[in-house]
Amino acid sequence: MEVRNLSKVYRTEYELVHALNNMDLVFPKHGLVFIVGVSGSGKSTLMNMLSGVDTPTEGEVIIDGKSLFAQNKKELFGYRNSYVGLIFQDYNLIDDMNVYDNIKLPLELLGIKDFSVIDDILKKVDIEDIKYSSVNEISSGQMQRVAIARALVKDSAVILADEPTGNLDSKNTKIVMDLLKEISKDRLVVVITHDDDAAHEYGDQIIEIEDGRILENKVQDESINTELPVNRSTDFIQPKIGFKKQLSFTKNFIFSNIGRSLTILILMILISFIGNILCGYVFFNIEKSYTTYQDEYGSEFIKLADTYSGYTVNYNVDHYIDLFEKYYDSNLIEVYGINYYTNKDDSIEEDNFYKTEVTNLIVDDGSFEYIDGVSPNSKYPDVAQIAITDYYVDCYAFYNDGEILGIGDTIRLNGVNFTICGIVDTSYEKYINYDTSDLFTSMAFQENLEYYNAFYVSSLGQTYWWDNMTFFEEDVKYTIVTKIPAETKYSRVLMRKLTTEPASLTSTANWTNKKNGMVSKALWTDLLEMSYSDPIIASYSISFVCSTRAKYTFSLRATAMYDSMTTNLENKTEYELIVGKQLFEKYRDKQQMCKFLIRRTDPNYKKILLNENVVNQSFTFARATWNRADSSKYVMIEFIITMLLIMTVFAFIMNSMTMNAEKKKIGIKYSFGITKKDIVKPYIFEIVLYTILAFVGSFLLIKFVYPLVVNGLIYTTEQEIKEYYFFYIGLESILGWDAIVYAIMLFSLFVMVLRIVRKSPIEIIKDL
Ligand code: ADP
Ligand code: MG
Repeated sequence: MEVRNLSKVYRTEYELVHALNNMDLVFPKHGLVFIVGVSGSGKSTLMNMLSGVDTPTEGEVIIDGKSLFAQNKKELFGYRNSYVGLIFQDYNLIDDMNVYDNIKLPLELLGIKDFSVIDDILKKVDIEDIKYSSVNEISSGQMQRVAIARALVKDSAVILADEPTGNLDSKNTKIVMDLLKEISKDRLVVVITHDDDAAHEYGDQIIEIEDGRILENKVQDESINTELPVNRSTDFIQPKIGFKKQLSFTKNFIFSNIGRSLTILILMILISFIGNILCGYVFFNIEKSYTTYQDEYGSEFIKLADTYSGYTVNYNVDHYIDLFEKYYDSNLIEVYGINYYTNKDDSIEEDNFYKTEVTNLIVDDGSFEYIDGVSPNSKYPDVAQIAITDYYVDCYAFYNDGEILGIGDTIRLNGVNFTICGIVDTSYEKYINYDTSDLFTSMAFQENLEYYNAFYVSSLGQTYWWDNMTFFEEDVKYTIVTKIPAETKYSRVLMRKLTTEPASLTSTANWTNKKNGMVSKALWTDLLEMSYSDPIIASYSISFVCSTRAKYTFSLRATAMYDSMTTNLENKTEYELIVGKQLFEKYRDKQQMCKFLIRRTDPNYKKILLNENVVNQSFTFARATWNRADSSKYVMIEFIITMLLIMTVFAFIMNSMTMNAEKKKIGIKYSFGITKKDIVKPYIFEIVLYTILAFVGSFLLIKFVYPLVVNGLIYTTEQEIKEYYFFYIGLESILGWDAIVYAIMLFSLFVMVLRIVRKSPIEIIKDL
């Protein structure tokens, strides 16, 4: 080892300090060499050049004929790792590792698996009794011996010690000096000291420096210039640092300052939690949420309803109108779960079965069984015959104080008297107690309704009020019985049109005199089905039944209701069946509630979802949240940006805190020859760990704690609260948010570490 023309200039704020001036020196292969000199003379600077922990401004350090600093960086790391053992005045032990682990580390970095040599070294430096002690708990003499043991354990060719006894009493000084003297027998030991006595007592060679120049170079024992008594490899070995070791660095790092680690973790969870909630608010899209919900449950429709004080109510007639007017082209479908009737005393009575209305006119083809009477057969209006069903007989009785219709009785329809000539058997009894929740039974019942609620007319069908129509074509199954008294003409037009379609509208007539029912749901459904394929047809589906139990049933174009049929008729399309506004107003107060369905394909789907309440309970809460978020979106976004800024600052502060706490350790590891990449890895592991924990933590908070909080604050049923559907959507934002946050953290970590490791190891250790 030798130095040639070595200079080091430090650039301080005010001046250039020439710590070393063109120094030339040749070291022997073994022996104890002391470097002495007054404080500030450049001893440490020289040592740092020799150890490769700092770089010279000029000149060279020659190791085995090679210039150290001319080598690539890797060589320099290898040199520090395997060629030199360093002993610092301040020991520079890694304080979150115990004595044994500190000593073991250089062996691990050399890839040595056999640690038995450590015990010999411990014995040699006389610290066996503190083998597993923390390095913070031992005396300074012991610390220095641990530092020496750490330098010795790798059995390197050179030991460099900067004031190894500077902090020791005379007894410990002697122990250390004896030790150094002994190990210098088969290697070069360079020791800096200002203790001249010790230098003269132990030194084989004494070099005195002053102002960065050699003042005196005195060899006390010529034997040091003989050949090295042992043959040891002088290769530069790159430090090897395994995954497990890295993890243990991470672990040490986290646990050496558990308070800081927990603070960081909790802050990260909280910030990300708050951020997620905010993102949930801002980026939540109720329309998307519904659609996802529908996809998930395979439902095409969503129910709409108004909510009041947390309870869902159906739409009343005013709502109908509002909705229809607002969403002009929409195909809102009424939903009657069960049939409600408002009694005189305003109580609600439920009837699942009886329908008072006649929904169909069926051409008698002789295929029906008659309980009583015969098939209708009449050509003349005033004596027109009609057959009714047993079901109809019972319905009539049900709504007419038990009055039983029979053969020979007369029914008046559209101003025409019909004589009942027969009663058809429909076996409807088997559906009387049908289970509405059973879809198939329900469907069967609905299908059969066309037979129950039908009048059977002559196959000849020549009655006076319908003989102008193309009504009795062979395949006509449905037809219209309508009662809009003054407008017969138009209802005929309507009928004519409808009978050319696959199905037609049936509205109830006022034929029961005082009781009326409602439009058959089954037929209604047919009509609505048609309306999707043919928008013109849809416009028929407005009907109006007037009676004390009136029910407004209309599915589309509420505005049509305001266009009185009695005015402007010429401008109407011939297909529109319209109820006068006055009539409507008259009965609106008696209107009952209903729910609406909206189809996924509805042109106003999005708009309606964003504006109307949706009865599906899971969304009630989401709705409220959406409204709140929607009204304060900009504030929220500003808030999020602020959060992000705080987060960025936090990430930087956190990382610099981390780095400051770790700086010295990084310097020590760096001086051992550990590369930047390997130094950064444990910190990345740490951040990854925090990331995972914080993500899981914030997700759990969002999923479980947030609902509890909301549940506590707002009274809602469990079902209403259950979904938190939008937090699943919020998951995207959790991921997005966290990704941003962790990207900032990793980036700032990199910046920190790079800034540190751009310095020389000694600068990091001293934190200049
Ligand atoms: P010694 O170890 O002999 O006491 P040093 O080698 O530490 O002396 O210092 C030699 C000179 O270089 C001193 O004047 C000291 O102030 C200066 N010096 C050392 N390190 C630095 C530095 N990083 N920046 C500026 N000046 C320095
Ligand atoms: Mg010094």
